[in-house]
Amino acid sequence: MPHKTFVTHLECSYSGETYEADRIHGLSREGKPLLVRYDLDALGAELDRETLSARSGGLWKYLEFLPVRRGENIISLGEELTPLVALPDLQAGPGRLLVKDEGRLPTGSFKARGLALAVSMAKELGIRSVAMPTNGNAGAALAAYASRARIESWVFCPDDTPEINVRETALQGAKVWRVNGLINDCGRLVEEGRETMGWFDFSTLKEPYRIEGKKTMGLELAEQLGWELPDVILYPTGGGTGLIGMWKAFAELRELGWVSAKLPRMVAVQSTGCAPMVRAFEAGLEHAEPWEGAATVAAGIRVPGAVGDFLILRAVRESGGFAVAVSDESILAARDRAASESGFLMCPEGAATLAAYLQEVGGGRIRPDESAVLFNCATGLKYPMPGAEARLDCKVPLDIDALQQA
Ligand SMILES: *Cc1c(COP(=O)(O)O)cnc(C)c1O
Repeated sequence: MPHKTFVTHLECSYSGETYEADRIHGLSREGKPLLVRYDLDALGAELDRETLSARSGGLWKYLEFLPVRRGENIISLGEELTPLVALPDLQAGPGRLLVKDEGRLPTGSFKARGLALAVSMAKELGIRSVAMPTNGNAGAALAAYASRARIESWVFCPDDTPEINVRETALQGAKVWRVNGLINDCGRLVEEGRETMGWFDFSTLKEPYRIEGKKTMGLELAEQLGWELPDVILYPTGGGTGLIGMWKAFAELRELGWVSAKLPRMVAVQSTGCAPMVRAFEAGLEHAEPWEGAATVAAGIRVPGAVGDFLILRAVRESGGFAVAVSDESILAARDRAASESGFLMCPEGAATLAAYLQEVGGGRIRPDESAVLFNCATGLKYPMPGAEARLDCKVPLDIDALQQA
């Protein structure tokens, strides 16, 4: 189906230098991420909130806000609108606590948003082979969308990536390699092999379109909340694509006059075992030094250095938010509470946002009367869970004593 598109150009997020749309681009000449720019006046004249709200479905309903020019290049696996689930028993006061449950997306994580867009654009631009470093979910999403687009995909992950991620990636058609290092080391391998192997580098923010896919989280959230954004958004921050993308969405919506001038405070949540953004935020720096010896149960946010560091820090500061680290113990405790008290199974990274919420409503940086949105970025089912070893012998009478002691 033909649709109107409003992309005017791309822009270096650091220098503002412009780049032609509809061409293959990686990073800018400055080595910084490129951002897609739209003619928002024309978009606003063509589309209003009511028309948009009358459309069903997930991220592809925001086509006018997206860069794909031709409908036949859209690669979709049935992306749905992800629900906002309330956690009333865990909220600290009258302010609502909501979780956007991204685990319902294809491949079970919000990486589907970014990769749906990036792969669709790769198809549109005629790219045949792509490679990426990943902590797991991005590789799985790349594999799925690339196979569907008939694009070859190569995936490199740390050898302690959750086993299910490595296997789903392989099963969905990528060539996946376990690497004895961290995601940055995997990224270096992609760079080394790029020229000889003819890969296009799909590393986080090294191509311009994953941000546009992740931007749809912000568009969806605004629409779901009746164009009234929450007071605070807590985002589990690795490469920061989602935080940067949502902040871009809010800026576009504000320019259109679809949301009020007061935007949410953006909170970048990291683990105490890998908190480069928190350290840079607290030191007042524009860029983050790489984190040495990164280690956390929340694999998705184990990112020692991010090419979009300054964009994360900029969004956090412009919004009046902050960056905060939570310990692995508090992450697992938050996962336990959400599951056992509210029946909501979170992934460790999602649980990190709950841990940060609980810590900060206690500590005062979030008030109990403020509304907060957390992100459960992947289905909790993808991650190792505590054992459950209770057994019964059915060859003998039911052991009532054992049951009652449980
Ligand atoms: C990728 C990922 C993150 C981090 O997302 P970014 O937008 O890259 O910061 C967090 N949690 C999970 C489960 C992920 O897969």
